[in-house]
This record gives sequence, C-alpha cells and structure tokens, in this order.
Amino acid sequence: MSVLFSELLVPGWADEKIGLDAVTGTYSDGSSFNLPCHTADPELFFSEADLAIAEAKSLCGGCPVRAQCLEGALSRAEPAGVWGGELFEDGQVIVKKRKAGRPSLREVAAREEEAA
Ligand code: SF4
Repeated sequence: MSVLFSELLVPGWADEKIGLDAVTGTYSDGSSFNLPCHTADPELFFSEADLAIAEAKSLCGGCPVRAQCLEGALSRAEPAGVWGGELFEDGQVIVKKRKAGRPSLREVAAREEEAA
C-alpha cells in the first residue's frame, strides 16, 4: 500500500492507514504533544535536498510514535519520504538520496545480470 502526500493532511489519516491514534496526545506529566511532521513543513519529509532530509530525520528523532511509524512504513514498503526517522525509496530504507543521472547500484546490478 502506498500513501499519497495529500493523505497526510486528512484528519484521521494516521489512525485509519497505519493504526496510530496518537497524532496528538498527552504525556504522563500532563503536557500535550503533536507529531513533528504535522507541525513542521510537510515538504521537509518528501524533499530531495540532503539538508531538508536531515532536518526531517532530526524531527522524527523527538517523535513519541517513531517506532510505530517506522514499523508501519516498512510494512507498507513506503515508496518515498522520511518515516520513523529513516529515508525510504521504493520500499527500502536508504542512507542517502541518489543524485539525478546516476543509476542506483540495484539498477547497475540488474543491467549487468541481464547482459551476462
Ligand atoms: S516518526 Fe517522523 S514521520 Fe513518523 S509520525 Fe513521527 S514525526 Fe511523523
């Protein structure tokens, strides 16, 4: 299952799609929280820029539902974006975005396999 960026903005999305009912909530000390991705610029989480991706990952670091978010993203094989503090591409966690024009190692390996 993939998730459209526009779906992130739909109330109840997190509960319905990934089983999170804690988009907003209360800590045991009575203070409340909102998910960082719902209060920061959402474009950070789907940016191509290394700096923005690092900022999104950093915001996830303080998220109270990070583990559930990452688990959900892995189970859905998210096609893109930062989820649970990790960067996803084609359902895989990747370290860094590949620059335009260079094929991925998977693509190179597939081409070499086809040629052999
Ligand atoms: S871990 Fe990151 S993407 Fe997931 S809910 Fe928290 S802030 Fe949002």
